[in-house]
Amino acid sequence: MSLLQAHDVSVEFRAKKGFLGSVPVRALDGVSISLEEGESLAIVGESGSGKTTLARACLRLIKLSGGTVVFDGEDVSGRSETDLKPFRRRAQAIFQDPYSSLDPYMTVGQIVEEPLIIHGTDVRSRKGAVHEALEEVRLRPGHEFADKFPHMLSGGQRQRVAIARALVLEPELIVADEPVSMVDASSRAEILYLMRDLQEKHGTAFLYITHDIATAYHFSERIAVMYLGRVVETGPSKSVISNPLHPYTQALVKAVPEPDPSNRFRRRASVSGDPPTPANPPPGCHFHPRCPYAFERCPADDPRLQEVRLGQEAACHLWHGPDHEAQLPATAG
Ligand code: SF4
Repeated sequence: MSLLQAHDVSVEFRAKKGFLGSVPVRALDGVSISLEEGESLAIVGESGSGKTTLARACLRLIKLSGGTVVFDGEDVSGRSETDLKPFRRRAQAIFQDPYSSLDPYMTVGQIVEEPLIIHGTDVRSRKGAVHEALEEVRLRPGHEFADKFPHMLSGGQRQRVAIARALVLEPELIVADEPVSMVDASSRAEILYLMRDLQEKHGTAFLYITHDIATAYHFSERIAVMYLGRVVETGPSKSVISNPLHPYTQALVKAVPEPDPSNRFRRRASVSGDPPTPANPPPGCHFHPRCPYAFERCPADDPRLQEVRLGQEAACHLWHGPDHEAQLPATAG
């Protein structure tokens, strides 16, 4: 049984248009993912792909318009905030911005202790648990860092505090939403290695949300690529990176900067064209206005996610149409 299963999840909201009007926006459109105990799954996509909405839906921080979220065999989709409390203890979050996610008026010790208070841990166990969590994220000695305020820390240290706060309840699942995108380059690898160590040591499952397919490859066993509210490719990280099936995944892989001999990173071509707005998605395959392989069927017919290779699925007519052999693009990234 999977630890987390999101099945056919949709999220719709209304966005303002003009002075008085609003339009429906489908941020998630029938997304299904699953995550095993102790596994790391990366959700990858550009801004507007719906990856953060998916993270929030899985944590039940927003209401679903359709579909279900099942955690450890229990459907948490329709639960009230009171009924969600046991789930909240077992599924924690790390957010993107370590500057706004920590209360500037609380000490590090108070920030890490707060979830323990909310979930009723007795006072005698709390201090030890806080120091242990701080030491685990390599803020040592823990008792010294506990007395500091967030403004006394670097961006990387603040994100470690956020990880300690997530970790202190010993959750089975951590949803990490772009955890390294706002820390300096030197701290990025350290934080990813730290999360990897915690995953291995505690068997914590991670849902890792990122725009960076290169870090997804290094941190996660599996990758799901999202485009305009849908999963367009999913599979083992190695297969998705070395043999991407969907033209959008191919473009993301090609856009990963590569080091040159002077040890600087050379930026490569990004995905061409701007992503369309979810308020007015293109018909058929949402990617067709940007796709170099688009053909007549693409704007007319919505491709479904289907298995192409063992464990690797893609939503693209090139792989499923009757004449696909003649049109297949080269897949080596
Ligand atoms: Fe490109 Fe068509 Fe495949 Fe969409 S279905 S990714 S437009 S080839």
